[in-house]
Amino acid sequence: MAYNLTEAQINEIVSRVVSEFKSAPKAPAAAKDWDATQYKGRKLIGVYETMEEAIEVANAGYKAVRSMSVADREKIITAIRNLCRAEAPIMAEIGVAETKMGRVDHKTAKHNLVADKTPGTEDIVEEAKTGDNGLTLTEMAPFGVVGAITPSTNPSETVICNSIGMIAAGNGVVFNPHPGAIATSNYAVDLVNRAVYSAGGPKVLVASVVKPTLDTANVMYKHPSIKLLVCTGGPGVVKAVLSSGKKAIGAGAGNPPVIVDDTADIDKAAKDIIDGCTFDNNLPCIAEKEVFVFENVADRLIAGMQKNGCILLTRAQADELAKVVLVEKAGKDGKVKKIVNRDCVGRDCRVILEKIGIKVGPEIRCAIAEVPFEHDFVQEELMMPILGIVRVKNIDEAIDLAVKAEHGNRHTAHMHSKNIDNLTAFARAVETTIFVKNAPSYAGIGFGGEGHTTFTIAGPTGEGITSARSFTRKRRCVMVDSFRII
Ligand code: NAD
Repeated sequence: MAYNLTEAQINEIVSRVVSEFKSAPKAPAAAKDWDATQYKGRKLIGVYETMEEAIEVANAGYKAVRSMSVADREKIITAIRNLCRAEAPIMAEIGVAETKMGRVDHKTAKHNLVADKTPGTEDIVEEAKTGDNGLTLTEMAPFGVVGAITPSTNPSETVICNSIGMIAAGNGVVFNPHPGAIATSNYAVDLVNRAVYSAGGPKVLVASVVKPTLDTANVMYKHPSIKLLVCTGGPGVVKAVLSSGKKAIGAGAGNPPVIVDDTADIDKAAKDIIDGCTFDNNLPCIAEKEVFVFENVADRLIAGMQKNGCILLTRAQADELAKVVLVEKAGKDGKVKKIVNRDCVGRDCRVILEKIGIKVGPEIRCAIAEVPFEHDFVQEELMMPILGIVRVKNIDEAIDLAVKAEHGNRHTAHMHSKNIDNLTAFARAVETTIFVKNAPSYAGIGFGGEGHTTFTIAGPTGEGITSARSFTRKRRCVMVDSFRII
């Protein structure tokens, strides 16, 4: 097949290939190459010693963006997308090296998803209402500077996804990232600033701190320049942010159940569940965490999972593993609680199983076990490639137990079925922000499913699959008796 390219088209292709080659990572980042302040000796842009300084600079950035057009903002968003795609492997590698969680290939895919499917300025829409009394406009305005708390599980993905949405809405951003992922998060802050500046924006529009703590978070909550708080994390931090007295968006914990009934395509269900459950070693809050399967198809489902890279543990092995992946800790109230063992969260299945003396090869990506409903593998949000499976008699029992296992988070649930009555009944009962039918969990954030992506799923405060418009405040402008042309 022959193509007739013009010289200009050829030059454009050559310059794009050269620039992609230049920005591609040459070798995996060694530990000395990165920390909270530098990458390969280059100082990260937008990272400050104190939270006060970070807020001041982000506020100046926000004021600079206010004088830019929406088209200019969109140029900034395009630059962020391009740089995110080019440097996705770098962030994936630093992310895994720093947090010891997740997988480089899956983290790279997550960054590409953020670059491709996070909405930009097109998400900001205006309303005009005309009538006998003239014209009223409602516009989506920025809040100003947003204070954002980000997790260790999707650190740079969340920083970039939040930045795209918050900047598209016209805001500046200050991050208080998870201390365990500070180098990865601050690399993403630097990346966003490099993109903003290259597209004609201010030198710093998103800022962070060298050492995020609960104290720096408290400064953020109280600072008068922070007009909106956005928190992506577990129950403790979401509660703290929602108690701050400021407008807040809370994206909290989940424990997504999966129901498989006897009308489902069982082989496909087995593969889909394991693909979703093992994505980035189960770190995404939407990932499958426990399964309720009809007893007449349970053996086939388990066999299908074994064909898809799972090891089936005995009940004794499951109980032994539960004692390793959860540890007991006394809370502030003196009560002893089970919490996840951070040495197991997001680790490869092989590494977790070694802790109880089971040796498997890298082809084993998930440990499954038949357990009763009360078992830790069902009740706890483990965030590791371990899946508890509970046999149920019928749809009523499946829904009853799955709703209980979701613990009222109203976050995410999944179902494999061809029975629309069953699908509808579970969706109604569980009331989650995301409900995925007949697909891996990640379809719910636009990966192989329709719809935009986000890494901040705001169930508790109701914004849902957040996007630029979630970070705006509505303002109305009224003109009486004019501007109507009929
Ligand atoms: P985490 O809750 O341990 O930490 C989140 C952030 O909050 C960190 O920066 C941490 O240092 C900080 N923090 C904790 N307590 C705080 C407090 N009282 N005040 C201020 N800051 C505080 O979260 P993690 O382990 O990194 O992430 C996993 C949890 O987050 C899981 O429960 C997961 O389901 C949830 N999560 C939810 C979403 C969502 O979109 N809904 C996305 C990712 C993760």
